[in-house]
Amino acid sequence: MDSDIPASSNQLSPCLLYHKVTSKWEAGVTWTPPDQFKRLMSAFHFDGWKTINPDSIFQCTTEPVSEKGKKFLLCFDDGYECTYTDAYPILERFDYKPMIFIPSGFIGKNNDWDHHLLGRHFNHLNLEQLKVLIRAGWVIGSHTVTHRALTNLSDLEIKHELSESKKQLEALFNIQVDWVSFPFGRYNKRILEIAREIGYKGAVVHILRHNCVIDDFILWSGDAVYRWDSNKLIHRRLYRKPGYRLGKLFRVCVNWFSGCTLVWKRLFSS
Ligand SMILES: [Zn+2]
Repeated sequence: MDSDIPASSNQLSPCLLYHKVTSKWEAGVTWTPPDQFKRLMSAFHFDGWKTINPDSIFQCTTEPVSEKGKKFLLCFDDGYECTYTDAYPILERFDYKPMIFIPSGFIGKNNDWDHHLLGRHFNHLNLEQLKVLIRAGWVIGSHTVTHRALTNLSDLEIKHELSESKKQLEALFNIQVDWVSFPFGRYNKRILEIAREIGYKGAVVHILRHNCVIDDFILWSGDAVYRWDSNKLIHRRLYRKPGYRLGKLFRVCVNWFSGCTLVWKRLFSS
Protein backbone atom coordinates (compact mmCIF):
# COMPACT_ATOMS: atom_id res chain seq x y z
CA MET A 1 0.00 0.00 0.00
CA ASP A 2 1.13 3.53 -0.75
CA SER A 3 3.10 4.86 2.20
CA ASP A 4 1.23 8.20 1.96
CA ILE A 5 -1.95 6.46 3.04
CA PRO A 6 -2.50 6.92 6.76
CA ALA A 7 -2.61 3.65 8.65
CA SER A 8 -5.40 4.64 10.95
CA SER A 9 -7.93 7.19 11.69
CA ASN A 10 -6.04 9.81 13.63
CA GLN A 11 -4.67 11.14 10.37
CA LEU A 12 -7.91 10.73 8.47
CA SER A 13 -10.80 13.14 8.10
CA PRO A 14 -13.41 13.06 10.86
CA CYS A 15 -16.22 10.59 10.33
CA LEU A 16 -19.83 10.72 11.50
CA LEU A 17 -21.73 7.47 11.67
CA TYR A 18 -25.53 7.59 11.56
CA HIS A 19 -28.08 4.79 11.62
CA LYS A 20 -31.59 6.17 11.06
CA VAL A 21 -32.79 9.62 10.04
CA THR A 22 -36.49 9.35 10.67
CA SER A 23 -39.47 10.99 12.33
CA LYS A 24 -40.76 7.55 13.32
CA TRP A 25 -40.23 7.42 17.08
CA GLU A 26 -38.59 4.36 18.61
CA ALA A 27 -37.31 3.47 22.04
CA GLY A 28 -33.74 3.01 20.74
CA VAL A 29 -30.98 5.60 20.63
CA THR A 30 -29.75 5.36 17.05
CA TRP A 31 -32.21 7.66 15.30
CA THR A 32 -32.13 11.36 14.44
CA PRO A 33 -35.19 13.42 13.44
CA PRO A 34 -34.94 14.75 9.84
CA ASP A 35 -35.32 18.37 10.95
CA GLN A 36 -32.32 18.10 13.26
CA PHE A 37 -30.30 16.32 10.58
CA LYS A 38 -31.18 19.00 8.04
CA ARG A 39 -30.14 21.82 10.38
CA LEU A 40 -26.79 20.14 11.02
CA MET A 41 -26.00 19.42 7.37
CA SER A 42 -26.99 22.98 6.53
CA ALA A 43 -24.62 24.30 9.23
CA PHE A 44 -21.77 22.12 7.93
CA HIS A 45 -22.40 23.34 4.41
CA PHE A 46 -22.48 26.95 5.58
CA ASP A 47 -19.13 26.35 7.34
CA GLY A 48 -17.58 25.03 4.14
CA TRP A 49 -17.49 21.33 5.02
CA LYS A 50 -17.59 18.82 2.18
CA THR A 51 -18.02 15.07 2.27
CA ILE A 52 -15.01 13.00 1.31
CA ASN A 53 -15.12 9.94 -0.91
CA PRO A 54 -13.36 7.27 1.17
CA ASP A 55 -11.68 5.85 -1.92
CA SER A 56 -9.88 9.14 -2.48
CA ILE A 57 -7.30 8.13 0.15
CA PHE A 58 -6.10 5.39 -2.21
CA GLN A 59 -5.63 7.75 -5.12
CA CYS A 60 -2.42 9.56 -5.89
CA THR A 61 -2.82 13.11 -4.80
CA THR A 62 -0.57 16.07 -4.35
CA GLU A 63 -2.66 17.16 -1.37
CA PRO A 64 -0.99 16.11 1.88
CA VAL A 65 -3.31 14.52 4.41
CA SER A 66 -2.65 17.35 6.84
CA GLU A 67 -4.05 19.84 4.33
CA LYS A 68 -7.23 17.95 3.72
CA GLY A 69 -9.35 20.96 4.56
CA LYS A 70 -12.88 20.78 5.81
CA LYS A 71 -13.77 17.32 4.65
CA PHE A 72 -15.62 14.67 6.57
CA LEU A 73 -16.72 11.14 5.92
CA LEU A 74 -20.45 10.70 6.39
CA CYS A 75 -21.61 7.13 6.93
CA PHE A 76 -24.83 5.25 7.51
CA ASP A 77 -24.90 1.81 9.10
CA ASP A 78 -27.59 -0.80 8.41
CA GLY A 79 -29.01 0.55 5.13
CA TYR A 80 -32.44 1.59 6.34
CA GLU A 81 -35.10 2.81 3.94
CA CYS A 82 -35.27 6.14 5.79
CA THR A 83 -31.84 7.03 4.45
CA TYR A 84 -33.55 7.15 1.03
CA THR A 85 -36.84 8.76 2.07
CA ASP A 86 -35.53 11.24 4.67
CA ALA A 87 -31.75 11.69 4.49
CA TYR A 88 -31.15 11.51 0.74
CA PRO A 89 -33.27 14.57 -0.23
CA ILE A 90 -31.51 16.63 2.45
CA LEU A 91 -28.04 15.52 1.40
CA GLU A 92 -28.75 16.22 -2.26
CA ARG A 93 -29.29 19.90 -1.42
CA PHE A 94 -25.72 20.16 -0.20
CA ASP A 95 -24.18 17.76 -2.70
CA TYR A 96 -23.15 15.47 0.17
CA LYS A 97 -22.25 11.89 -0.81
CA PRO A 98 -22.14 9.42 2.07
CA MET A 99 -21.03 5.83 2.36
CA ILE A 100 -23.73 3.36 3.41
CA PHE A 101 -23.17 -0.10 4.84
CA ILE A 102 -25.64 -2.73 3.67
CA PRO A 103 -26.42 -6.11 5.26
CA SER A 104 -26.87 -7.85 1.91
CA GLY A 105 -29.28 -10.50 3.19
CA PHE A 106 -31.80 -7.85 4.26
CA ILE A 107 -32.16 -5.77 1.11
CA GLY A 108 -35.87 -4.90 0.79
CA LYS A 109 -36.72 -6.66 4.08
CA ASN A 110 -37.54 -5.78 7.68
CA ASN A 111 -34.81 -5.49 10.28
CA ASP A 112 -35.50 -8.94 11.74
CA TRP A 113 -31.95 -9.06 13.07
CA ASP A 114 -32.83 -6.39 15.66
CA HIS A 115 -34.78 -6.77 18.91
CA HIS A 116 -37.84 -4.66 17.96
CA LEU A 117 -38.35 -2.91 21.24
CA LEU A 118 -42.06 -2.08 21.59
CA GLY A 119 -42.70 -3.91 18.34
CA ARG A 120 -41.20 -1.27 16.03
CA HIS A 121 -39.95 -2.59 12.70
CA PHE A 122 -37.90 -0.70 10.16
CA ASN A 123 -37.54 -1.50 6.48
CA HIS A 124 -34.21 -1.83 4.80
CA LEU A 125 -33.53 -0.20 1.44
CA ASN A 126 -34.74 -2.12 -1.58
CA LEU A 127 -32.90 -2.70 -4.85
CA GLU A 128 -34.39 0.24 -6.72
CA GLN A 129 -33.71 2.69 -3.90
CA LEU A 130 -30.12 1.50 -3.66
CA LYS A 131 -29.65 1.92 -7.40
CA VAL A 132 -30.82 5.54 -7.14
CA LEU A 133 -28.38 6.23 -4.30
CA ILE A 134 -25.49 4.66 -6.22
CA ARG A 135 -26.32 6.74 -9.27
CA ALA A 136 -26.33 9.81 -7.01
CA GLY A 137 -22.76 9.03 -5.94
CA TRP A 138 -23.23 7.17 -2.68
CA VAL A 139 -20.53 4.61 -1.86
CA ILE A 140 -21.73 1.14 -0.89
CA GLY A 141 -19.97 -0.82 1.83
CA SER A 142 -20.68 -4.22 3.31
CA HIS A 143 -22.37 -4.77 6.65
CA THR A 144 -22.10 -8.58 6.26
CA VAL A 145 -24.99 -10.78 5.10
CA THR A 146 -27.02 -11.41 8.26
CA HIS A 147 -25.85 -8.69 10.67
CA ARG A 148 -24.54 -11.16 13.25
CA ALA A 149 -21.71 -10.17 15.59
CA LEU A 150 -18.64 -11.60 13.85
CA THR A 151 -16.79 -12.07 17.14
CA ASN A 152 -19.27 -14.86 17.99
CA LEU A 153 -18.65 -16.78 14.77
CA SER A 154 -16.12 -19.35 13.54
CA ASP A 155 -13.51 -18.39 10.96
CA LEU A 156 -15.55 -20.19 8.31
CA GLU A 157 -18.69 -18.26 9.19
CA ILE A 158 -16.79 -14.97 9.29
CA LYS A 159 -15.39 -15.68 5.83
CA HIS A 160 -18.88 -16.47 4.55
CA GLU A 161 -20.43 -13.31 6.02
CA LEU A 162 -17.73 -11.06 4.61
CA SER A 163 -17.15 -12.65 1.23
CA GLU A 164 -20.78 -13.38 0.34
CA SER A 165 -21.88 -9.88 1.23
CA LYS A 166 -19.12 -8.39 -0.92
CA LYS A 167 -19.92 -10.73 -3.83
CA GLN A 168 -23.68 -10.15 -3.62
CA LEU A 169 -23.42 -6.37 -3.53
CA GLU A 170 -20.86 -6.28 -6.34
CA ALA A 171 -22.99 -8.55 -8.53
CA LEU A 172 -26.28 -6.76 -7.81
CA PHE A 173 -25.00 -3.27 -8.53
CA ASN A 174 -21.97 -3.83 -10.74
CA ILE A 175 -19.72 -1.97 -8.31
CA GLN A 176 -16.61 -2.65 -6.30
CA VAL A 177 -17.09 -3.02 -2.55
CA ASP A 178 -13.90 -2.12 -0.69
CA TRP A 179 -15.24 -1.06 2.70
CA VAL A 180 -16.91 -2.88 5.53
CA SER A 181 -18.54 -2.00 8.83
CA PHE A 182 -18.79 -4.75 11.42
CA PRO A 183 -22.23 -5.37 13.02
CA PHE A 184 -22.51 -4.03 16.58
CA GLY A 185 -19.00 -2.60 16.12
CA ARG A 186 -17.55 -5.98 17.13
CA TYR A 187 -14.21 -6.96 15.60
CA ASN A 188 -10.78 -8.29 16.45
CA LYS A 189 -7.47 -8.73 14.67
CA ARG A 190 -8.47 -12.09 13.16
CA ILE A 191 -11.60 -10.55 11.63
CA LEU A 192 -9.53 -7.76 10.09
CA GLU A 193 -7.09 -10.29 8.64
CA ILE A 194 -9.94 -12.26 7.09
CA ALA A 195 -11.48 -9.06 5.69
CA ARG A 196 -8.15 -8.10 4.12
CA GLU A 197 -7.71 -11.63 2.72
CA ILE A 198 -11.11 -11.38 1.05
CA GLY A 199 -10.18 -8.11 -0.60
CA TYR A 200 -11.55 -5.34 1.57
CA LYS A 201 -9.33 -2.30 1.81
CA GLY A 202 -10.66 -0.89 5.04
CA ALA A 203 -13.33 -0.67 7.70
CA VAL A 204 -15.21 2.08 9.45
CA VAL A 205 -15.25 1.20 13.14
CA HIS A 206 -17.01 2.58 16.20
CA ILE A 207 -13.92 2.12 18.34
CA LEU A 208 -10.37 2.22 17.10
CA ARG A 209 -8.52 -0.68 18.73
CA HIS A 210 -4.85 0.12 18.31
CA ASN A 211 -3.86 -3.43 19.22
CA CYS A 212 -5.81 -4.71 16.21
CA VAL A 213 -4.24 -2.50 13.55
CA ILE A 214 -2.78 -4.57 10.69
CA ASP A 215 -0.75 -3.63 7.62
CA ASP A 216 -2.49 -2.73 4.38
CA PHE A 217 -5.89 -2.30 5.93
CA ILE A 218 -7.43 1.06 6.87
CA LEU A 219 -9.31 1.49 10.13
CA TRP A 220 -11.39 4.64 9.98
CA SER A 221 -12.85 5.60 13.32
CA GLY A 222 -16.43 6.83 13.04
CA ASP A 223 -18.19 8.87 15.71
CA ALA A 224 -21.61 7.29 16.10
CA VAL A 225 -24.45 9.80 16.44
CA TYR A 226 -27.02 9.01 19.11
CA ARG A 227 -30.47 10.36 19.93
CA TRP A 228 -29.22 12.68 22.69
CA ASP A 229 -26.46 14.28 20.61
CA SER A 230 -27.18 17.93 20.00
CA ASN A 231 -26.08 19.50 16.74
CA LYS A 232 -23.71 21.71 18.71
CA LEU A 233 -22.02 18.64 20.16
CA ILE A 234 -21.72 16.91 16.80
CA HIS A 235 -20.33 20.09 15.29
CA ARG A 236 -17.59 20.12 17.95
CA ARG A 237 -16.59 16.62 16.92
CA LEU A 238 -15.74 17.68 13.39
CA TYR A 239 -13.39 20.29 14.78
CA ARG A 240 -12.17 17.85 17.46
CA LYS A 241 -12.58 20.58 20.06
CA PRO A 242 -11.79 20.09 23.78
CA GLY A 243 -14.04 17.45 25.28
CA TYR A 244 -13.91 15.44 22.07
CA ARG A 245 -11.99 12.59 23.67
CA LEU A 246 -14.30 12.49 26.68
CA GLY A 247 -17.29 12.30 24.34
CA LYS A 248 -15.56 9.52 22.46
CA LEU A 249 -15.10 7.58 25.67
CA PHE A 250 -18.80 7.94 26.40
CA ARG A 251 -19.71 6.62 22.95
CA VAL A 252 -17.39 3.67 23.50
CA CYS A 253 -19.49 2.81 26.59
CA VAL A 254 -22.71 3.16 24.59
CA ASN A 255 -21.33 0.86 21.93
CA TRP A 256 -20.47 -1.66 24.61
CA PHE A 257 -24.09 -1.60 25.76
CA SER A 258 -25.24 -2.26 22.19
CA GLY A 259 -24.32 -5.82 23.14
CA CYS A 260 -27.71 -5.79 24.92
CA THR A 261 -29.26 -6.43 21.51
CA LEU A 262 -27.23 -9.61 21.28
CA VAL A 263 -28.24 -10.71 24.77
CA TRP A 264 -31.89 -9.91 24.04
CA LYS A 265 -31.77 -11.98 20.85
CA ARG A 266 -30.25 -14.89 22.71
CA LEU A 267 -32.83 -14.76 25.50
CA PHE A 268 -35.95 -14.34 23.42
CA SER A 269 -35.25 -15.97 20.06
CA SER A 270 -36.72 -19.41 19.79
ZN1 LIG B 1 -25.54 -2.48 12.12
